[in-house]
Amino acid sequence: MESAVLQKSCLNCQNPFVVTSEDEALLKKIGETSLAQQGLPHPKLCPDCRQQRRLAFRNERWMYRRKCDFTGKDIISMYPPNSPFKVYAQNIWWSDQWDATEYGRNFDFSRPFFEQFRELQLAVPRLALMNQQGENSEYIHHSCKNKNCFMSSVTFGGEDIYYSDWIIDHCRDCVDCSYLLEGCELCYETYYAWGSYQAFFCDFVKRCTNVWFCYDCIQCQNCFMCWNLRNREYCVRNKQYSKENYEKYIAGIFPFSADKIQEFRKEYIKAKEYLAAHAGVYELQCTDSYGDLMFHSKNCFYCFDSIRMEDCRYCYDNIDLKDSLDNYHVGWAELMYECHAISNGYNCLFCHFTYDNRSAVYSDCTQNCNHVFGCVGLNRKSYCILNKQYSKEAYEELVPRIIEHMIRTGEFGEFFPIQFSPFSYNQSRAQEYYPLTKEQALAKNISWSDYEPSPPMVSKTVSAEDLPQFLDEAPADILQTAILCEVSKKPFKIIKQEFDFYKKTGLPLPRRHPDARYFDRMKQRNPRKLWNRKCQKCFKEIFSSFHPERNAPVYCQECYQKILY
Ligand SMILES: [Zn+2]
Ligand SMILES: [Zn+2]
Repeated sequence: MESAVLQKSCLNCQNPFVVTSEDEALLKKIGETSLAQQGLPHPKLCPDCRQQRRLAFRNERWMYRRKCDFTGKDIISMYPPNSPFKVYAQNIWWSDQWDATEYGRNFDFSRPFFEQFRELQLAVPRLALMNQQGENSEYIHHSCKNKNCFMSSVTFGGEDIYYSDWIIDHCRDCVDCSYLLEGCELCYETYYAWGSYQAFFCDFVKRCTNVWFCYDCIQCQNCFMCWNLRNREYCVRNKQYSKENYEKYIAGIFPFSADKIQEFRKEYIKAKEYLAAHAGVYELQCTDSYGDLMFHSKNCFYCFDSIRMEDCRYCYDNIDLKDSLDNYHVGWAELMYECHAISNGYNCLFCHFTYDNRSAVYSDCTQNCNHVFGCVGLNRKSYCILNKQYSKEAYEELVPRIIEHMIRTGEFGEFFPIQFSPFSYNQSRAQEYYPLTKEQALAKNISWSDYEPSPPMVSKTVSAEDLPQFLDEAPADILQTAILCEVSKKPFKIIKQEFDFYKKTGLPLPRRHPDARYFDRMKQRNPRKLWNRKCQKCFKEIFSSFHPERNAPVYCQECYQKILY
C-alpha cells in the first residue's frame, strides 16, 4: 500500500494531498539523469490540478480554417484565426524555409524564466496541425498515416474514419467511435472495441461480429442488447435464441427508425448500468496496478486509459511508457515528468507537444531535439537554450544556473503555467474533465474563446426534428442541406462518405451535431477517479471508478469472473 510521507496543501485548489515515498522515489530517479543538480522538488499542486493544467494544453478536436502566416494560403489548423500565435502550414513548418534558431535569445538572470519563455513562445511560428503522411485526410489531428478520414483525432493507420477519436491499429469504416483497437471495421457509436466487425452502439467488445447495443462481450456474434457474454451467438437481452428466431427478431426491428434507436439507446444505458456486472475497474493483464482502463501494465498508480505501462504514476492516455510521473498522451518513452503530447521521448521534463526528444526541459513543440531547455519550435537541434545555440560545455554550465535561478523565483519543478496554454480553456480537453465557466476562467486569467467558425455554406437548413425516420426517405438534396442539431441547434452537414456508411449499415441520419455526439459518448464514460467501495457479493473492499453512490452491480475481480456467462 502507498505510504504518505508528506501532507501538502494544493496551491491551486487548497485541497490536501500527499506526496508518498513512491512518488518521491520516482521523482529522484527521473531527476538523477537530468541537469537538476538538487533533484526535482515535490509538486505544488494536487494530482487533479496537475492533470487539469496539462489538459488545458491539449486541443484534441477543434480544427479551424485560417491562413498560413508564411504563405498566406488557407490551411486547416488547431489554432483559430484569432490566436495570438504565428502558425505555419505543415509542409512549411517541417521545411528548411525558416529557422527557429533565428528567434534565439540570451537568458536574462534579472527576469523570471516563464516571462522570457512566453515572449519566445509568442514569437516562434507554430505547427498548424499534427497530421503526417495522410491521404485525403485534411481534417485530422494528433494523427498519422490515415486515408480518407475526416474530423477525427488520435487516429493512426485508419481508413474511412469519421467523427471519431483514439482509433488505433488500422481500423476502417467507422463513424462516431472512441478507443477502437486492433483493426475494427464497420463500427458505429462504439466505445472501446478490439478487433470487432459491425459493432453498433457497443462498449467494451472484443473480437465480436454483428453486435448491437452490447456491453462487455468477448468473441460473440449476432447478439442484440446483451452484456457480459463470452463466446455466444444469437442472443437477445442475454437470452439464447435459435438462429431462426434471432433472424426473425432482427428482421422485425429492422431497419431502425430514428425513434426506435433512441428507445434502444435508453434501454441499453439502463441495462449496462443496472443489469450488467462490472468489475471495480476495467483492466486486462495488469499486475500491482491502481487505475482504470489499464492494459498489459505493471506496478502503476493512478493511471487511466493506458497500454503497456511500467512503474508509472498519475499518467493518462499513454502507451509504452516506463518510469514516468504525471503525463498525458505520451508514448514510447521513459523517465518523463509533467509532459503532454510526446512520442519517442527519453528523460523529458515539463515539455509540450514534442516528437523524438531526449533530455528536453521546458520545451514546446521541439522535434527531434536533444538537450534543449526553454526552447520552442526547434527541429533537429541540440544544446539550445531559449532557441540559442550553445556548445555542450556551455549548455551544461548554464542550465544548472538557470535552474537555480528558477528555484529562487519559485518557478522550477512545475509544468508551464496554465495561462501559457496555446489554446483557450474552452477549446481544450481540460474543459471536458474540469469544466469552468467563462467567468471562472477569466477570473484566473485563463484564456477563453468566443470564436465561432462560420456556419456551413448551404442554401437550405432543416430542423433535426423534421428529418425522416429512415435514411431512404431523406430528401435528395440532403448533402447540400444543413441540419440544425436537436440539442444545440448548431448547423451541421452530412458528408457523402458518411451518408454511404449509413446506407451500408441501415442506420438513419444523426440528429445531433458531431460535437453533441462526442459529448454524449463522453458522458457514458466513468470519471477518471477511483473510490473505495465494497464488492456486491463478497463485500470485500475494492477500488472502483464507479462512484459508491451509483447503484450499479460492482464486484471484485474474482466475483466478477464467476458471474460471466
Ligand atoms: Zn488542487
Ligand atoms: Zn467479491
